[in-house]
Amino acid sequence: MTTTQQLTNKTVLICGASVAGPALAYWLTRYGFTVTVVEQAPTLREGGYKVDIRGVAMEVIDRMGLLPEVGKASTAMRGGAWVDDKGKALATLGPELIGLRSPGDDEVLRGDLAHILFNATKGGVEYLFGDSITGLVQQADGVSVRFRDAAPRVFDLVIGADGMHSTVRRLVFGPEEQFARHTGMAACVVSVPNFLDLDHWELMHPTPGQVVQLYATQRSAAKAQFIFQAPAQLPDRHDRAAQQQLVATTFADAGWQTPTLLHALPQSPDFYFDTVSQIHLDRWSYGRVAVVGDAAWCPSPLSGQGTSMALVGAYVLAGELKAAAGDQRVAFGRYQAALQPYITENLTLGWNNATQMVAADRRAIRTQTTMLRMLRHMPCKGLALRPIIKPLQRAANAIQLTDY
Ligand SMILES: Cc1cc2nc3c(=O)[nH]c(=O)nc-3n(C[C@H](O)[C@H](O)[C@H](O)COP(=O)(O)OP(=O)(O)OC[C@H]3O[C@@H](n4cnc5c(N)ncnc54)[C@H](O)[C@@H]3O)c2cc1C
Repeated sequence: MTTTQQLTNKTVLICGASVAGPALAYWLTRYGFTVTVVEQAPTLREGGYKVDIRGVAMEVIDRMGLLPEVGKASTAMRGGAWVDDKGKALATLGPELIGLRSPGDDEVLRGDLAHILFNATKGGVEYLFGDSITGLVQQADGVSVRFRDAAPRVFDLVIGADGMHSTVRRLVFGPEEQFARHTGMAACVVSVPNFLDLDHWELMHPTPGQVVQLYATQRSAAKAQFIFQAPAQLPDRHDRAAQQQLVATTFADAGWQTPTLLHALPQSPDFYFDTVSQIHLDRWSYGRVAVVGDAAWCPSPLSGQGTSMALVGAYVLAGELKAAAGDQRVAFGRYQAALQPYITENLTLGWNNATQMVAADRRAIRTQTTMLRMLRHMPCKGLALRPIIKPLQRAANAIQLTDY
């Protein structure tokens, strides 16, 4: 379905090739725009946690014709267990409890989703890997863009899909500190050998103020996630060695299999580390520039909704640009008006999820595991889970997609 209408603005530069960027590129090319994506990493970035795609976001995947690919990449987790210091299961959970997903929702590895979206767009989109934007000057008829390596170019529109620490947002709206709200937590995710031979199974080991998770979505490798109450001063965002050192020190006494996981940290082929923060921005556009995904509304890496919000945001932004024949003066306002209630509801949910994930002390851990154990044996689990699942379902479906 390619549109033949005359577009006021046709060339679009998107910064960032993870989820929001390629999803936006997909829709814009389908509507007749000419799209370039610049990504600072030399190749498509691997790694990251397993991410949920829920509610309306699954409908977006369906409209992209990507349900079969996402289905094939599904983590298909069988469940998991909370374990103590010795690895003894404190509570065992089935797939319906561990993922809190509703029928039709799915879960994939972030890197797999990035590959699916990239493959769906690479034929019609110009990708510039290993480069970044260093300057933007807005003019009446376009945006003059300076790149770190490539020669300067002019685009009709520029969209920042460059994540929580967005460069586009900084260049246009100002420093990140103005928009970031820190939950007081940090998260680190790495690939490690599957030395416990987990089979689509997840283990969680909580200690006061922190939790270590280990899971495998395939037999050949596993992922370890460390979530912890972060110190006020975190290492520089680009200093991987200091981040690894902080994780090693923080989890030195965590027990269970943690020493083995920490030992594997420096050799891991991928490494994700970030503060668990949200981004709150009043306006998602200025002139010919807009932001989408985590760059505009990061709900935090522990919200469980960031990927869905990026997919839905990209769909609406591209759709409004199509509906306004590329006129950003109309489209950007409509994009924000259509999406704001959905984003606001998910930001609230994301904050609650992130701040309640880690138990503060041993007593809270005991209460948590007792409740999980009881839940497993309840005949009407659905009823007992309603207070948790209902808000999640409501937020995941808090927008009705327009047919653009
Ligand atoms: C490698 C990686 C691992 C992740 N792991 C997790 C995880 O374990 N758990 C979790 O909840 N979330 C994780 N996320 C974040 C998650 O992908 C997002 O919350 C969500 O999917 C929204 O995606 P997004 O495309 O808006 O932003 P992001 O996924 O953050 O993608 C932003 C993209 O922009 C690129 N970029 C950034 N700055 C520039 C620049 N100046 N120039 C060019 N390109 C730039 C980045 O390299 C990245 O590819 C991870 C992101 C990445 C990139």
